[in-house]
Formats: sequence, C-alpha cells, structure tokens
Amino acid sequence: MKLVFATHNQNKFNEVKALLPSHIELVSLTDIGCYDEIPETAETLKGNAKIKADFVTTNYELACFADDTGLLVDALYGAPGVYSARYAGKQKNADDNMNKLLSELKEKNTRTARFETVIALNLKEKNTYFTGIVEGKITEVKSGENGFGYDPIFQPKGYHQTFAELPLEVKNKISHRGKAIAQLMEYLHKLPSK
Ligand code: IMP
Repeated sequence: MKLVFATHNQNKFNEVKALLPSHIELVSLTDIGCYDEIPETAETLKGNAKIKADFVTTNYELACFADDTGLLVDALYGAPGVYSARYAGKQKNADDNMNKLLSELKEKNTRTARFETVIALNLKEKNTYFTGIVEGKITEVKSGENGFGYDPIFQPKGYHQTFAELPLEVKNKISHRGKAIAQLMEYLHKLPSK
C-alpha cells in the first residue's frame, strides 16, 4: 500500500520510513511531484494537520498523513502554539523565535510549557488523529547544540538538560513527535497487509 507523508522535511521523512512495516510504501511530497507549500491557515494543530493530509488525498487520490507541532507556553496562554514556526516573523528563524520567547517570559513567574504534535491520517475513507505531548519548561538561557527550533530552551520534565543537550535517541523516545509517531506506527502495524 502506498502512503504519503505530507512533508518536505527529508529528516522527518527518513526517520518515519525506517519505522514502518514493510507492506507500506512510504512516499514523500517530492516523490508524488507535489512541490506546493500547502497553506497552514487553521487555528489549531489538528486543523493544520488535516489541511495538509486532505490536500494530498483530494489532489492526488492517495492515502496520506501529515503532522503539525506547536510549543504551548502557559504564561502566554498557549502561545506561540500553532504559530510556533513564524512566532518572530515570516523568516521562520529559530534564534529570532527563541529570543522573542525569552523576552516575553522575562517578567513571568511560571515557565511551564509543552510541545504538542497532532498527526492526521487519511486512510480508506477514514480520518484518524494521533496526539503526542511532552511537558516541560522554558529555560532562562539557551543551551545545547542538538536538534532544531526551540530545543535549546526547552527542558523536558524529569530532565536537567534541554532537548538540545540530550542525545537524539533520548529526545525521540520522550518527545511529542516521537509519541505521536509511535501511536501512528501501532495503528499501521495492526492493519491487515492486503
Ligand atoms: P512543524 O509543524 O513540525 O513544522 O513544527 C512547527 C514549529 O514548531 C517548528 O518550526 C519549530 O519552531 C517548532 N518545533 C516543532 N518540533 C520541534 C522540536 O522537536 N523541537 C523544537 N522545536 C520544534
């Protein structure tokens, strides 16, 4: 069975492909000739994941899943949330985003936050959603070189290091995306192979 992962991010694609059962042929947007930047116009992670999956299913008539992630900070009432990628502007720059967040939190007493990933799957006329969450807090300064995005300022609950200081294998086990993908894999592994 052919299944599209609606992403242009080759790292994410390779990570997921390695985990899939062999009867599923995972293909990327590039593989199906889709070079569009699919607009993420919804106000929720679930809405954006659905827009991306539906775009592929509607235009290419293929089974598809898509993910969307946000960082939700309690003291900022859930911001940057669905706007995490472009928090400090259209340039989508990780350093600018982290600087803005650190500055917004300067006067705040609580720094608790969570990453949330929602995956939308369109398969056999059915829409299924999987959600992964990791709780933690925003540190006062950036530390670590690994990962991407807000990793240098996110410290998962129960750890003394930021995501950017933890080895990738550890991050993948406890992360929002890791948890959502694990649920998707469990679902796909249970499907009949024909
Ligand atoms: P996306 O939906 O996976 O593209 O994620 C949206 C934005 O959330 C990214 O541009 C990053 O700023 C942030 N983000 C998502 N996942 C992570 C992560 O694992 N670590 C740090 N930042 C992340």
